[in-house]
Amino acid sequence: MLYQSTRGDNTKIKASEAITRGLSKDGGLYVPESFPSVSLEKLSELVTKPYSERSAYIMGLFLDEFSETQLNGFTSAAYNETGFTSSDIAPLYEINKNTHFLELWHGPTSAFKDMALQVMPHLLVSSLQRTNAKNQNVCVLVATSGDTGKAALEGFCDISGIKIMVFYPKDGVSEVQKLQMTSQRGDNVGVTAVEGNFDDTQTGVKEIFSDKELAKKLDDKGFFLSSANSINWGRLVPQIAYYVSAYCDLVKSGKIKIGEKINFCVPTGNFGNILAAYYALKIGLPINKLICASNRNDVLTQFITTGAYDKNRAFYTTMSPSMDILVSSNLERLLYELSDKDGAVVSSYMSSLAGSGRYDVPAPVLRGLQNMFASGYCSEEDTKKTIADTWENDKYLIDTHTAVACKVMQDYRKNTGDDTLSVIVSTASPFKFCESVLDALGVKTDVSGAKLIDVLSEHTGVSAPARLLGLKTAKPRFSGFIKQDEMKSAALEFLGG
Ligand SMILES: *Cc1c(COP(=O)(O)O)cnc(C)c1O
Repeated sequence: MLYQSTRGDNTKIKASEAITRGLSKDGGLYVPESFPSVSLEKLSELVTKPYSERSAYIMGLFLDEFSETQLNGFTSAAYNETGFTSSDIAPLYEINKNTHFLELWHGPTSAFKDMALQVMPHLLVSSLQRTNAKNQNVCVLVATSGDTGKAALEGFCDISGIKIMVFYPKDGVSEVQKLQMTSQRGDNVGVTAVEGNFDDTQTGVKEIFSDKELAKKLDDKGFFLSSANSINWGRLVPQIAYYVSAYCDLVKSGKIKIGEKINFCVPTGNFGNILAAYYALKIGLPINKLICASNRNDVLTQFITTGAYDKNRAFYTTMSPSMDILVSSNLERLLYELSDKDGAVVSSYMSSLAGSGRYDVPAPVLRGLQNMFASGYCSEEDTKKTIADTWENDKYLIDTHTAVACKVMQDYRKNTGDDTLSVIVSTASPFKFCESVLDALGVKTDVSGAKLIDVLSEHTGVSAPARLLGLKTAKPRFSGFIKQDEMKSAALEFLGG
């Protein structure tokens, strides 16, 4: 299987090259030139398999360069030996006959990013062995608004030949997220706070990536730069697996018959997670609707409803920060499929977005979009209310991101009458966002920092993930902060002066 850019450069490359390069030279994202398919017979076979084998099989369909043994090695290292707290890895939780939550936060950092970032380092190292003629070391640079940074640090920690440096906005992450990062173990990691907001941090990292002089200096030191964000194919492909796995679990427990269609509702930011669901549909997973849930930054709802993508709008900081995004990068990959793989058309949308901040898709593309996707958004007030109601009525504790999806799912049902069995994708442990969840439950407290975890636990009787409890005694290794224009020298210093 070969990969090509979404923007019209028709050079076809192998998966290992797509994974090491990240972004195509023409600025596009790498996509598979065609899609494999999974028969219902094969799905039935997967029903009896554990998560790691289901995952290795699905990844193998797209990564045929890697052997089955190799991929099974990667997924068993990622999912069976790294402290996933549920042996099901990605278990379903039923709140009523028609509604299940897919819990993707049992990994080491308690957010769904672990599902991909525990596997991706293995894919990257192995891809490098195939493509890296000079035998260089890799420096992974990450700008994070919280969840990605910690998941990447855990995934790449103490992997030989790799160094990882994470930049986060000094005042832009939750207390738990900050402690998680500053107390990170490992000899190959660096963590630095940057003055300003997430955009400032991200701009700083982008500047490092586009600095040719710096690239030359790093090259001389035997390093080349790589990124771990969700535009990399190596991060996307492991995510397809948990949709297939959830389906298998529903068949296994007799909730559905094989072949029966279900819905997924996904709390969406950069469009990586829901794109993986769309790819699952493309390879033949029986899916009726994909419901795209946004918070108050509802640019995607507007797009799916009207066909106009317009980022000229107010940006809101919400209690579901991982979804505070106005440009959803991975949408480009969907546009490519909906435009019959016409890179020139996608390229024109993207230059229009870069120029005027907006593009409009024609009626046939919009119809294709609406055929598969529904959408909705959830206000801050409704996010709180949904956390409180779900706790009150179902004794099930959800985080702020999951609450957005839960509300959008309820609205979708009300508006359409569609009562297809639906899976709400749950993307973070509620204990990662204690301040907001306690506030939603009406609990007042003077406590701050990691102690909030105990307050939430005592109030609900729900126990917190052990790794988060450990933060109460964690010693920060990284302190202080720098200015945006000091990021380059900080990166150089990190790599040995
Ligand atoms: C990253 C993240 C999201 C958004 O996922 P995308 O793939 O960017 O759409 C939602 N919830 C949580 C908790 C996240 O960390």
